[in-house]
Amino acid sequence: MAIVGAGHVGGRAAQTLREAGWRGRIALIGSEPHLPYERPPLSKALLTGERSAAQCGLRSLEAWLEDNVEHIVATVQAIDPVARTLRFGDGATMAYEALLLATGGHARRLTIPGASLAGVLSLRTLDDAAAIGPRLALGSRVVVVGGGFIGLEVAASARSRGCDVTLIEGAARLMGRAVPAVIAARAHALHERNGVCILVNCAPQAIERLSDGTLDVLLENGDTLRADTVIVGIGIEPADGLARAAGIEVERGIVVDEELATSARGVYAAGDVAVFPSRFGSHRIRQETWHNAETQARVAAHNMLGAHDAYRELPWFWSDQYDHQLQVAGEPALGKSSVVRTIAGDAEIHFELGSDHRLVGASGFGPASALAKEMKLARMLVERGASIAPQQLPDALANPEVKLKSLL
Ligand code: ADP
Repeated sequence: MAIVGAGHVGGRAAQTLREAGWRGRIALIGSEPHLPYERPPLSKALLTGERSAAQCGLRSLEAWLEDNVEHIVATVQAIDPVARTLRFGDGATMAYEALLLATGGHARRLTIPGASLAGVLSLRTLDDAAAIGPRLALGSRVVVVGGGFIGLEVAASARSRGCDVTLIEGAARLMGRAVPAVIAARAHALHERNGVCILVNCAPQAIERLSDGTLDVLLENGDTLRADTVIVGIGIEPADGLARAAGIEVERGIVVDEELATSARGVYAAGDVAVFPSRFGSHRIRQETWHNAETQARVAAHNMLGAHDAYRELPWFWSDQYDHQLQVAGEPALGKSSVVRTIAGDAEIHFELGSDHRLVGASGFGPASALAKEMKLARMLVERGASIAPQQLPDALANPEVKLKSLL
């Protein structure tokens, strides 16, 4: 069995192959020199120094050795899905019975002048985080480009280290990709209360490096921001090049069916790179989340061994910023109407209902302690596709006297 991509998905799939009884070879191939690690701490605990790189590992070195997983640090150059072989840069080839593509994505780069100057960094890998951490010193000036999850988590971490932080977002509001506007507005206010200067409708035009090493970020509106470090968090590009070159169907990511099988026999894809069928309709989605990595890896591994398990997990992610948490379950973008539930302790959950009155999404925001329990129930309601008639709506979901549990 071969796995290309030794991140969270690749690692968990390798582990699952062994757990499921595969006794043959497992080649876990990745271009990073690290054993599989989890990404959520990279923008948070690793930057604030609360966790070390070693503590981000998916499993211990002993566990990989015990499972006899061959971790190969190399870049695969080509796949031949007919001959079922991989080719490496030095011309060597490797045969596989089944292949998992867990190649993830690359941080999208700014395309403006100065985008590759020293001190302009992006955050995707452990090495990226290791390069950023030491720069977040007390009083250091940080400009964050991009008001999505990465940008906001980095901004919060930089503030907790005492940096002077300005965040610029090209769109009119934060987190436009996946979060309702009302919640984005609350996150905006939270960051401002914590001292982040946020500029929306604002994009950088060029970056210049001064003789003393500081950076000037020239904005489209003519203003200039001075920075010691610029951190770019403007999304990822799914790493689907290998699959495309092999003639496997891609569509901004590698297209898979509900068994996570690609268009080539014996080749599966999972994680950030996989474009898979939504459980809410005939469209396809791609998810860049811990939960997606964790759950798709397991299904893909079983199917590589001949099972035909369908991937049916509800999309779910969280983002920690200061003492607040944001969670989104389901696909809120499919909602036709919404209901807000206010929770004691200043948290709220926005429920989204589809045209058939079934819940399609729930987005929660608030102090982590207040949100967690209710959000767990909200997630279960969406998971079960709970249906709520319009006449019962406000009372069922919005009334804090009505327990969410009672709706399950
Ligand atoms: P990530 O996972 O990296 O945070 P998201 O897609 O969640 O990615 O968020 C990226 C954010 O960056 C979006 O809010 C998007 O509007 C913003 N963005 C993209 N390009 C630029 C740019 N050139 N300048 C400022 N903001 C940008």
